[in-house]
Amino acid sequence: MAFDSLSEKLQNVFKNLRRKGRLTEEDVKAALKEVKLALLEADVNFKVVKNFVKSVQERAVGSDVMNGLNPGQMVIKIVNEEMVKLMGSETTEIALKPGIAITVIMMAGLQGAGKTTTTAKIAGKLKQKGKKPLLAACDVYRPAAIAQLQTNGEKQGVEVFSMGDSHKPVNIAKAAVEHASKNGFNVVILDTAGRLHIDEEMMDELIEIKEQVDVSQTILVVDSMTGQDAVNVASTFEEKIGIDGVVLTKLDGDTRGGAALSIRAVTGKPILYIGMGEKLSDLEQFYPDRMASRILG
Ligand code: GDP
Repeated sequence: MAFDSLSEKLQNVFKNLRRKGRLTEEDVKAALKEVKLALLEADVNFKVVKNFVKSVQERAVGSDVMNGLNPGQMVIKIVNEEMVKLMGSETTEIALKPGIAITVIMMAGLQGAGKTTTTAKIAGKLKQKGKKPLLAACDVYRPAAIAQLQTNGEKQGVEVFSMGDSHKPVNIAKAAVEHASKNGFNVVILDTAGRLHIDEEMMDELIEIKEQVDVSQTILVVDSMTGQDAVNVASTFEEKIGIDGVVLTKLDGDTRGGAALSIRAVTGKPILYIGMGEKLSDLEQFYPDRMASRILG
């Protein structure tokens, strides 16, 4: 499971805190120094770590906490609360239009991040909610992408709209929305092209789709195993095209957890879902409080 090493380190710090009946300011500062190191080793963004430790310290040192009955426990509680806050506090859902109005969701991300898989996973979730989603194959550059989306759509029992690979993505997107409105679909999920690196052409293509199709949610898929790179990718997408939320994939294989802890604080955008495996059912809603509990043990 993710975060194993971070969890273990934090639990050791907490064990020492609990052991002490009274805490001095020095004890708290020493413990927080270890928390800081553990977070940095987990590849959490440096600024995020700095602010996090500062917030915990301000709440713990010199306050009633130190003179309370169970100071160690109180410090641990503050760490927990600040960690939940760091990840956005509330669970954020994809905003869907009511009834038959069509919500267009544009999926974006670098190649290999898990975008095509996540697109099908999300379609399954929306279907469970009683929505009627249509998947649109707008990734015309990666040869296997369309076939992969079709296979996954079939597994999910969700129709895939495709025009092959000789049309412009924006035109496929437009045609997909038209097809949806004629056939009673109320969500269209656009699987757009991923590139190996962020480039202008990729961004321009996404901007063009956003401008010409009534996209109401732009969701970025990033690979948590790439750590701070994932955070930088998210910042760039937010800056260039504007995103509404992030799906963090491959958390099942991420032993460090830095992206999960940094992305909200750095980009201001919520994590909507986490990918926990390759199977199409391996997508979980993101709960900041549950995630903090997972990390803190
Ligand atoms: P795309 O290029 O962004 O469309 O990426 P794909 O959807 O093709 O996924 C790339 C690889 O990552 C595939 O082998 C997926 O099965 C795998 N993958 C996607 N999401 C997850 C996840 O949450 N956990 C794991 N372990 N693998 C994932």
